[in-house]
Amino acid sequence: MTMSEYRPPQADIAFILEHVVGYPAIAELPGYEHADLETVLELLEQAGEFMAEVVAPTNRAGDTQGAVRLPDGSVVTPDGFKEAYRQYVEAGWGSVPLPEEFGGGGFPRTVGLLLQEMMTSANMAFALCPLLTQGAIEALVNYGDPEQQQRYLPKMVTGEWAATMNLTEPQAGSDVGALTTRAVRRDDGTYGITGQKIFITFGNHDLAEQIVHLVLARTPDAPEGTRGISCFIVPKFLVNDDGSLGASNNVSTLSIEHKLGIHGSPTCVQAYENSTGYLIGEENLGMRIMFVMMNSARLSVGMQGLAVGERAYQQSLAYAQERRQGRAVGVSERDSAIIEFPDVRRMLMTQKAYLAALRRLMLLNASYVDHSTHDPDPASRARADEIVGLLTPICKSFGTDLGNELTSLALQIHGGMGFIEETGVAQHYRDVRIAAIYEGTNGIQAADLIVRKLGVRDGASVLEFIASMREIDAELAAAGDEFASIRAELGQQLDALHRATIWMLKTGPTDPNAALSGSSPYLRMWGLVVCGWLMARSALAAANIDSADVAESQLVLARFYAEQLLPQCAGLLPAATAGSRDLFALDADQLGSVVRRRVG
Ligand SMILES: Cc1cc2nc3c(=O)[nH]c(=O)nc-3n(C[C@H](O)[C@H](O)[C@H](O)COP(=O)(O)OP(=O)(O)OC[C@H]3O[C@@H](n4cnc5c(N)ncnc54)[C@H](O)[C@@H]3O)c2cc1C
Repeated sequence: MTMSEYRPPQADIAFILEHVVGYPAIAELPGYEHADLETVLELLEQAGEFMAEVVAPTNRAGDTQGAVRLPDGSVVTPDGFKEAYRQYVEAGWGSVPLPEEFGGGGFPRTVGLLLQEMMTSANMAFALCPLLTQGAIEALVNYGDPEQQQRYLPKMVTGEWAATMNLTEPQAGSDVGALTTRAVRRDDGTYGITGQKIFITFGNHDLAEQIVHLVLARTPDAPEGTRGISCFIVPKFLVNDDGSLGASNNVSTLSIEHKLGIHGSPTCVQAYENSTGYLIGEENLGMRIMFVMMNSARLSVGMQGLAVGERAYQQSLAYAQERRQGRAVGVSERDSAIIEFPDVRRMLMTQKAYLAALRRLMLLNASYVDHSTHDPDPASRARADEIVGLLTPICKSFGTDLGNELTSLALQIHGGMGFIEETGVAQHYRDVRIAAIYEGTNGIQAADLIVRKLGVRDGASVLEFIASMREIDAELAAAGDEFASIRAELGQQLDALHRATIWMLKTGPTDPNAALSGSSPYLRMWGLVVCGWLMARSALAAANIDSADVAESQLVLARFYAEQLLPQCAGLLPAATAGSRDLFALDADQLGSVVRRRVG
């Protein structure tokens, strides 16, 4: 396998859909009848071929050339991006999970997420353009008025027009409420938008003829903070009544950033100077609209950790079989492939088990998204919505933290060659690093978990989810000795998670800083346990299908996960519940002097 090859993990995807996350039940929901499992698997097969053959080969050029801003302010994408994007639009891949009334295929989010996984594995930087467009489409579908929907959505759905999300300003990062871009209402009902945004992904490029910017801004008399933010459509070019493109809308790209990774994705400083904006929904509703996009985008970004981790894993597995070095135990000659060494095996198994676990986690979340929007039973919809709320910060943080750790392992397997750019594996390590930062840093996700999500129904919502995971115990007990260690470990770790949750529920209301101090280790406990439960479910399901090979591999992966990865959960309990004392015991001066003394 050469370094740019990518093989979509179709077999694992098919197994999960059918046996782990209950896809057949999704295909029975009203509106998804056309998306039966067989049709979906065929579609994913074709999409996978497209991503592997058309998109994946653009990944290296994307990294080495990067996007370039020309003196006139236009932005040129790396070689191959334009042609791959043209074919992507022509084949209609972007429209698959989007609403049929605007020309989409009306497929479930579960299917859409898998397309995103494969495209991101193929080329993460490239995949960001459709990812942002999809988020903007969701905002317009939910909050746009019919005229806006007719004007913008059909071409955004095909991908002929791309879109962006403009939140960040120099002083307004995690604290979006600090933004100052102004929106002044004009007599004709449009708004004049003036301000500067930074870090805008695909803020300008040559892939699409039009870019529909969704911009957060503040009207002159708006309340302070997030309550005073409104959301506007600010197209790069004004759109004439017949749908054709008109005059330029005073949106300029002042510069693009030089970054650690995703060089093919232009990250732009954007200036708006009395640019024409069209209000979405009502004034001061901006944060609510952005939250629609954010839930969806956070799951997609969590999936980036999985997708880039998968690509890096495939490369490290190939390298481990090619690279010969030294002599493995029990071999007479000095010519062993490094895959024969136990420590290399550990790195490969760790990647494989976590990747399998993450794919199950992401698809479980996506399946609840589909139930939350399409289940005919209001109670099921409401419960699914709660579970999506709980799982989204976990998918985002745990997925991207692992993305960093797993690409690092893939690099480690390459030895010194991993540190050398020609191998290509360093690109994955650099590319995925941003995923823990944007779309709400992982620290913000952990805060969201304990501040917003634990409080749902005074904690009953999360405790019910933990109780539902415990129901697997009887099945594991009945499955016999081979499942004994999985059962024992899962039971213990569910206990640890339960204890931490009770501590958080008690501590949060009285001492929020203590609860926030443990939020990141606590989130990781959740990630580890939900994944352990899903791996156990996979092994049980595999034991009942007619394939000894699948049964064995699922059992081995679940056992490795339960015995060797999952136990970290209880190890995190002390950090999750330690409170804030030691984090704040040293003031900033003392933190500085301790470092100086040690170094000196
Ligand atoms: C490549 C790239 C692409 C991007 N794309 C876009 C885009 O398309 N659109 C867009 O609007 N923005 C985009 N961003 C911006 C991105 O979302 C922000 O960088 C991110 O939200 C963090 O904000 P910040 O950089 O100001 O960091 P800060 O908010 O300054 O955070 C610094 C550190 O402090 C921590 N921190 C801050 N506040 C808290 C808190 N309340 N509790 C706990 N910890 C806290 C953070 O976790 C972080 O570790 C992009 C950024 C990059 C680098």
